[in-house]
Amino acid sequence: MFRNFKTVNRMIFGRGCFNQLDDILSEQRSKQRPTIVFVVDDVFKDKPLRERIPLKETDLLLWVNVDHEPKTSYVDQLTDQVRQAMAERRQDLPAGIVGIGGGSTMDLAKAVSLMLTNQGSSVKYQGWDLITHPAVYHAAVPTLSGTGAEVSRTTVLTGPEKKLGINSDYTVFDQVVLDPELIAGAPREQRFYTGMDCYIHCIESLEGTYLNAFSQAYGEKALALCQEVFLEEVPDSDDKLMMASFFGGMSIAYSQVGVAHAMSYGLAFELGVHHGIGNSIVFDYLEEFYPRGVAEFKQMLVKQGIELPRGITANATDEQIERMVNVSLMLEPLWENALGKDWRNIMNRERIRALYRRM
Ligand code: NAD
Ligand code: ZN
Repeated sequence: MFRNFKTVNRMIFGRGCFNQLDDILSEQRSKQRPTIVFVVDDVFKDKPLRERIPLKETDLLLWVNVDHEPKTSYVDQLTDQVRQAMAERRQDLPAGIVGIGGGSTMDLAKAVSLMLTNQGSSVKYQGWDLITHPAVYHAAVPTLSGTGAEVSRTTVLTGPEKKLGINSDYTVFDQVVLDPELIAGAPREQRFYTGMDCYIHCIESLEGTYLNAFSQAYGEKALALCQEVFLEEVPDSDDKLMMASFFGGMSIAYSQVGVAHAMSYGLAFELGVHHGIGNSIVFDYLEEFYPRGVAEFKQMLVKQGIELPRGITANATDEQIERMVNVSLMLEPLWENALGKDWRNIMNRERIRALYRRM
């Protein structure tokens, strides 16, 4: 069976296109449902972007903190906040949710839009196609590029038991607003690590056994854009990085990621290491799986003057390492994509453990 997958309905791209957000949202507002909920990374509280948010009197502005990657408990709390605000406005649902920020904020916006129409805690929906009701209209405005969260059919959440996305067709954004000017202010290291998430998506997709012409077409273009951005430093690198993220996301939509992602999830779950940096830390040790990609990644580190954190597992107990191995091994499709159907004969606990211990 081939996957018949859903993509973003509408997208707008260009420097300054954020100014059209008001017009775009006005099409969604109605008399019964005038409210738009803006879910915005609190890093912008004191930034000029704040004044540019097209906020109306009936709207709701939710500042979100993403010092930690999104948790199911945070999603539930935000959803309750929106429900309460809607009740005060005597409105059943908002006209839409707009996420403004990086991958974490976009994921929070996706999750809240889903949980407003699906009963119970978000924990219940971590998995594949467990959502039964369409979400509230939701739009994304990325301010960091690389995760591909703007195009994907998942919202990655850490719950009490697992770090796993709410994967569904309803998760996909209805609208994305891709304005390269908005990523210009991101801190250099953060921009690099989130950009490397995209680079690693491309390598893992292109080197994987699930590869097909669809994924290859998007993956090769995204890879070439990453090379321009991180090795050549072209002048319009923000525009290119934004499109690399989008295409990288499209590439893995129809294939899968691989070893770096499988192991990075273990680091995230047990040690709270963030996605982009975790992928980079792991990828640095994967020359046996991705020799060309890792060699080029090391060139990018030098070119960008980035020093990777070392020794992050130095103080980890054996129990912690075992839990990391468990989390990583749960991600079977990732291993199968990377190493083929008989991956269990190639990758065992001992090898994963040894790799974690080197980091
Ligand atoms: P992020 O959203 O976690 O943000 C990282 C940091 O950058 C935060 O401190 C944030 O406040 C700051 N920041 C964001 N934009 C900024 C800007 N323009 N200027 C200054 N600071 C800015 O980072 P990310 O790497 O984009 O996202 C990682 C998250 O995305 C993880 O939670 C991961 O699980 C998730 N993810 C989701 C998908 C998906 O398909 N849904 C895919 C990959 C990763
Ligand atoms: Zn990723």
